[in-house]
Amino acid sequence: MIEVAPAVQGCLSKMAIAPGEQGGAVRYTLRAGEHRLDLNARLGQPLRLEWTGSIACTHCGRATRKSFAQGYCYPCFKKLAQCDTCIVKPETCHFDAGTCREPEWAERHCFQPHVIYLANSSGLKVGITRGTQVPTRWLDQGAIQALPILEVQTRQQSGLVEVLFKEQVADRTNWRAMLKGEVEPLDLQAERDRLLASLDGGLSGLRERFGADFLHVLDERPVSFEYPVLEFPRKIVSHNFDKKAEAAGTLLGLKGQYLILDTGVINLRKFTGYEVAVG
Ligand SMILES: [Zn+2]
Repeated sequence: MIEVAPAVQGCLSKMAIAPGEQGGAVRYTLRAGEHRLDLNARLGQPLRLEWTGSIACTHCGRATRKSFAQGYCYPCFKKLAQCDTCIVKPETCHFDAGTCREPEWAERHCFQPHVIYLANSSGLKVGITRGTQVPTRWLDQGAIQALPILEVQTRQQSGLVEVLFKEQVADRTNWRAMLKGEVEPLDLQAERDRLLASLDGGLSGLRERFGADFLHVLDERPVSFEYPVLEFPRKIVSHNFDKKAEAAGTLLGLKGQYLILDTGVINLRKFTGYEVAVG
C-alpha cells in the first residue's frame, strides 16, 4: 500500500468498502491505480477528482474511448461471460444450450452456491449474490440492513427464485432516496417469513424442477450498517466525468459506491477504468 501524496493519479476501481469494527461506521478506501486513499479520514475536508480523459479497460487494460458495462472496452464487453445479459438476468442462463461465452469461467462463478437476500437500501428489496460476495454486495448498494434468506446451488437457480420474489418486492435501489438517507429500518425477519409463506407455491414448483435439496432456507440474523455521512444531501445533483472532467468539493459522506460532496454526488463505480488525479 502506497501512502497518498497530495495528488495521485491512476485508473479508478470500485471503492473497497468494509464493515466497521464493533458497530462503527463502514470503512471506505478509494482505489486509483496502485494508490489507496482512506476516505473516512477525509470527511469534512476538500476532495478533488479530475479525469485525465483516458479510460483503460478493467479487464485487458487496453485504452478505450468509451466504457461499456462500467469499465470494459468494447471487445471485452462482447466477449466476456461476465458482460453477458445472463449475468444480470440469471434465469436466462444458456449454459445448457452450449452457448456460454466462457464455460470455464461459468463453472467457477455461476455453478457455485448463491444466496438470495433481503436488504433495505431504499426500502425492501430482494437480491442475489455469490456466497463469497457477502457483505460487499450490500455495502456497494448502500443497504442499511440485510438478511440472507435462501441458498441455492447455481446462479440460474438464484435468478429463478428472484423472479418469484420480484412479484412482491423491488429488486432495484432508488439511489436518490438511498443517498438522501430517507430510509426507515425494517423488520427483515418478519418480511422473510411473510414472503416465504406467500411464495410457497412458486418455490414448490422449483423444487419439482431441481429436486427437493436445491434450496436451503437459511436461519440467519439481520446485519445492519452505518455509513460515514456528516450530512445527507437534500437535493441530488450528480457529477459526471463525461460532461465535466472535474468533481470537487467538501466530502460530506460515503454511501454505496457514491461520494457525497457538498457540490454533488458521484457514483465512482460508474467510472471504473477512468484515469483520475485525486487530491
Ligand atoms: Zn478489454
